[in-house]
Amino acid sequence: MKKKADLIVFGGGIGALSFLYELSLLELVPENLKKLKEMKILLIHAPLLATPCSFQTTSTVSLTGIKEGLSPLGDLLFKSFHHFEHRFVPLLKSKSVAELGIEKVTKEYFFRVNANTDDDDQHGPKLLGSDILDGNERFKDLAEVSQTYIKTECRHSFKTINEENSYIIYPEIFQHFLLSEAQKKLNIEVVEDFIVKTECHHGEFHLSSQCGDYFSHKLLDARGAYQNEFQSFFPQHFGEQFVKEYNLTTVRGSFLKARGPFEGLGFEKSFYRVFNDLNFIYRHQSQELIIGSTTLKGALVFEERSILKIYYDEIVKLVDLKIPSFDHFEVVTGLRTKARKRTPLLKHYSNFLEKNTELWHFSGLYKNAYTTSFYLSFCELKKEILL
Ligand SMILES: Cc1cc2nc3c(=O)[nH]c(=O)nc-3n(C[C@H](O)[C@H](O)[C@H](O)COP(=O)(O)OP(=O)(O)OC[C@H]3O[C@@H](n4cnc5c(N)ncnc54)[C@H](O)[C@@H]3O)c2cc1C
Repeated sequence: MKKKADLIVFGGGIGALSFLYELSLLELVPENLKKLKEMKILLIHAPLLATPCSFQTTSTVSLTGIKEGLSPLGDLLFKSFHHFEHRFVPLLKSKSVAELGIEKVTKEYFFRVNANTDDDDQHGPKLLGSDILDGNERFKDLAEVSQTYIKTECRHSFKTINEENSYIIYPEIFQHFLLSEAQKKLNIEVVEDFIVKTECHHGEFHLSSQCGDYFSHKLLDARGAYQNEFQSFFPQHFGEQFVKEYNLTTVRGSFLKARGPFEGLGFEKSFYRVFNDLNFIYRHQSQELIIGSTTLKGALVFEERSILKIYYDEIVKLVDLKIPSFDHFEVVTGLRTKARKRTPLLKHYSNFLEKNTELWHFSGLYKNAYTTSFYLSFCELKKEILL
C-alpha cells in the first residue's frame, strides 16, 4: 500500500488531535480556506502497539492557583487554561458530557499542614509531607476542612481550597469528538499502522511499515514518549539531537482504576479531589474511580501495584466513603514526555534535512497535555501557514 498526502500527522494522541482541531478552526480568506479543505491529511497511529498516553491518563484540566507574571511556564499554563476555556466552555451549554467528554467540576484541594517526615516516601506523591505549602504564595487562602467525606479524626491535619473552574476529561469521548469535528472541515484519513522507519529524501518524508509506505512534504511528529524511545526514526541523528536539545525524558505514571457500577457506595456524581499530590477522582459518566498517580523515570513498566497499594491505603485511611476492595482496581500506566523546565513545545522546522520539507515537532506535554496542547497549536498555526 502506497499513500501520498499533503500532511502526515504521525500520532493519534491529544497532541495530534489538538493540532488538527485548531487547524480546522483557522480563520482564513476564502481562497486559502478552499486550499485547506482540499489538503489531504493522513493521520497514522498504532493504538495497540504504541498505546497512546492520552488514554492512560487522569486527564484533568485546572489552574491550581497559577497566576500570570511569575514564571514563563506559569504564563504558558495560565494562557493555555484560558484558551481551553475559550474553546470548550461555550460548548458545555449545548453538548452533554457523553458527547463532549468534558465535565466541569470543583477541584477540592487538600493540603497536609502538619508534616510527618518519618512517613516520607521518596517514590510517591508528597502526600505525607507539608512542603508543598512552604513559601507557596498560591495557596494563602486555605480554609479549615469541614467536608463530611473526610474522616473526622483526619480533618485537623488538612487545610483546603476549592477551585471552581476545573475540568474532568473523559479521554476516549473527548478525542472522538475532536477528530470527528476536525473531519467535518478537513480531509483527514486515519490509518492504523505501526511505522518502523522514517526517512527523508527527494524533498519528502517517507514513513514505512511492514505493509505500507507513506509520503509527504509536511510532517507533524506527535508520537509523545515514543519519540524518546525510538530516536533512530529520524535520519542523521536528528532524533538524538531533539532529545539532547530539549532534554526530553520519559516519565511513566501509573494509577489505580476501578470500574463501577458502585451501587450503594455513595458515588452519585463526579468529583476531583487532591490530597497534596495524590488524586482521588470519580468520573461518573464512565463510572471510573481513580487513585494515583506515580511519577517514575523511564519507560520500563514494572511492579507498581505495591506503590499504588500505599496510596490506596492512604485514601481508605482519609476518606469516609466505601471504597471498593483493592482487588477491584486495575493498574493503568502511561508514558509521558518531560522537556527542559517541564515546558511543552511545538517547534517548526522549514527545509528540515532537505529543501521543501516542513516538520512540526510536538513534545514534552508531560502533565499538562490537555491544557497546553490547544494553545500551543493555536499559536503555531497563527504563525505558520500550512498551505
Ligand atoms: C498517570 C498519568 C496522569 C496524567 N494526568 C494528566 C492530567 O491530569 N492532565 C493532563 O493534561 N495530562 C496528564 N497526563 C499527561 C498526558 O496524558 C500526556 O502528556 C499526553 O497524553 C501525551 O499526549 P501525546 O499526544 O503527546 O502522546 P500519546 O498520547 O502517547 O500519543 C502518541 C501517539 O503516537 C502513536 N505512535 C507512536 N509511535 C508510533 C509508531 N511507530 N507507529 C504508529 N504510531 C505511533 C501512538 O499510537 C499514539 O497515537 C498524565 C499522564 C499520565 C501517565
